[in-house]
Amino acid sequence: MPPLVDPTRCDGCPQEAEPPCVLVCPGDLMVLDAERKQAYCREEADCWDCMTCVKACPRQALRTRLSYQLADVSADLMPEVTGDHITWTLVDCRGRVERFTVRTLNTEPEGHSNSPPRE
Ligand code: SF4
Ligand code: SF4
Repeated sequence: MPPLVDPTRCDGCPQEAEPPCVLVCPGDLMVLDAERKQAYCREEADCWDCMTCVKACPRQALRTRLSYQLADVSADLMPEVTGDHITWTLVDCRGRVERFTVRTLNTEPEGHSNSPPRE
């Protein structure tokens, strides 16, 4: 299910050469409607819910729709990126709110890895 664009928040990122949501979509699906100055997903069936665009939007104008995954009615999952953390706000189908904060950057010293060595 593609991200929902909140028209009251999306301003088309006029200060950017290319809006972050357009820049980061791995499927090249987010585009800017030049007339309305708002972003949209040009091929909804091709979106695989990676949420990269949702995390990249500086105005929190994109919402992830989780109706299929979490409930039979709408639920929301909103990220807020601050420094090296991201806080996810989940509003479930009953309106209950939960927040989860996780670190987003690998701050391990260069050359150090938790990954198992390759064969
Ligand atoms: S990054 Fe956010 S505010 Fe900017 S164009 Fe995309 S959806 Fe709109
Ligand atoms: S959720 Fe992922 S695939 Fe879908 S429009 Fe956003 S960046 Fe592209």
